[in-house]
Amino acid sequence: MEAALALSREALGSTWPNPAVGAVLVRASGGAPRIVGQGVTQPGGRPHGEAMAIAEAGDEAAGATLYVALEPCSYSSLRGGIPCVERTLKAGVRRVVSAIADPNPRIAGLGHALLRTAGVKVTTGVLEADAARVNRGHFRRVREGLPTVTFKVARTADGYAGGPGGARMAISCPDATTWVHQQRAHFDAIMLGIDSVLADDPLLTVRLPGLEHRSPVRVILDTRLRMHTGLKLVETCRTIPTWVIAAEDAPIQPEKTLVDAGVEVMRVGRGADGHLDLREALALLASRGITRVFSEGGPTVGEQLALLGLADEVIVSTSPTRLGAEGVTAVRPGLAALLADDSRWQLARAEQIGGDAFRFYERIG
Ligand SMILES: [Zn+2]
Repeated sequence: MEAALALSREALGSTWPNPAVGAVLVRASGGAPRIVGQGVTQPGGRPHGEAMAIAEAGDEAAGATLYVALEPCSYSSLRGGIPCVERTLKAGVRRVVSAIADPNPRIAGLGHALLRTAGVKVTTGVLEADAARVNRGHFRRVREGLPTVTFKVARTADGYAGGPGGARMAISCPDATTWVHQQRAHFDAIMLGIDSVLADDPLLTVRLPGLEHRSPVRVILDTRLRMHTGLKLVETCRTIPTWVIAAEDAPIQPEKTLVDAGVEVMRVGRGADGHLDLREALALLASRGITRVFSEGGPTVGEQLALLGLADEVIVSTSPTRLGAEGVTAVRPGLAALLADDSRWQLARAEQIGGDAFRFYERIG
């Protein structure tokens, strides 16, 4: 099951709208147990991990044990394909060890039940907490119609994410920057506020050898539609999807210009503070199949995500250098208060990456 979960983790960010499901087939007959097939959900969500593992095992799947990171599916979607339960039975798999039931109401225990009815020995709940954590985005999307959100912010030793007046500055060391790119590859979407986009003109892609194709959808929160065609995000939007979320009352002309350039523009209402309704924005992303969102800023968006209970994880990296002036506060007071409240948020781990100190906080419950 550890191997199946490792396959899942590696595929996160590439399988949406589906969960990332690793599957490992093991045969124990005639000596030491050996892996005869393994696989994981393929890019775009199909084929599923079980189908990949069974295909790799061929005739050796008969009599084998299938370890799978999520309950095998029991129905065919409109996109077709034989359900994994049916594949598993046809292949002659004798035993299924499953980490956790799929909350998808069309499965929800039916996959396990059908296997049992057909005479397959089924064990469930193996490394269940780990499996729930790995596919947290899928669980949240199915149960609440929202993606899981990780907020990441980099700050100087004296606590600033930007220079005076929001001036751009390099904070993270090269190792920390590489780490951020690796993270991006494992999310479905990367989300940023328009102020950061206008200040930095970022690409928001994965720029690591071999992982370039893993760039997530780029989502920009842009209440009044200030995005313009001179930005790198717009220049590259025909290669890597770029979605802009604006307020319902944002002007129509910039939308036309952006859409002509290949950007997708969506609209949501405004929240009580006059900014975009973040819950509605995230629900919109979930309705498009997004399960995992990596928010890289800015500080105001991060604070709002946490205060509204929409963020599940907050990552703060601190560089050893000081700004030495009054800049943009990275961890705003509302977020700082939440992170300090150990009944609501916990420090899950702390780690040094290159010269920067990383702290990983997780929401409790
Ligand atoms: Zn399946």
